[in-house]
Amino acid sequence: MEELPTVLRQQPLGAEIGVERLSDQTMRQIGSVLDKADRSLCEVNVDLCKALCRQGFKEPLLAVGCPRTHPLLRTHATDGIWGTAFQGGPLAVCWQVPDKFIVWHEVLHLLGADECYKESTHEQTCERPNCIMQYVPTSASVGEWPFLCLTVMERLRRCLQIQLGVRPDGQQRSR
Ligand SMILES: [Zn+2]
Ligand SMILES: [Zn+2]
Repeated sequence: MEELPTVLRQQPLGAEIGVERLSDQTMRQIGSVLDKADRSLCEVNVDLCKALCRQGFKEPLLAVGCPRTHPLLRTHATDGIWGTAFQGGPLAVCWQVPDKFIVWHEVLHLLGADECYKESTHEQTCERPNCIMQYVPTSASVGEWPFLCLTVMERLRRCLQIQLGVRPDGQQRSR
């Protein structure tokens, strides 16, 4: 996952984001939330947010990979074939990862990106043929950076400014 922030830090997005290694204690906390099989993915999302905030994280985002048969996904009815994410986070889950761009797509949802395809037909809705927010992004269809259309780029810019506490005029929010 080091690669995605490196890519997003490049122009034209220039997002100031990084990756942190989690402590053993945090990993245990996350594991205990994810392993409780008796709740919906939505409830897990809320519990995870609380657990991570207790660990001192302010705006936690977390992408996990697991088999489709994991108890976490037992109650999750979806026609998504590779993963799902709660926009705004903290949780994204990928269960079929033939390609890194699938994980990146879900992580970008966490950062605020919307889909660039029609739910019904999976037809792409943006102007950039290699946009990563298309249906089932792969190395062949996405390829090299930049792989964000203007809409997604603007949306991420706005969301990241809010998450990083930076106002659109570039000044740090006072709090
Ligand atoms: Zn998506
Ligand atoms: Zn797009």
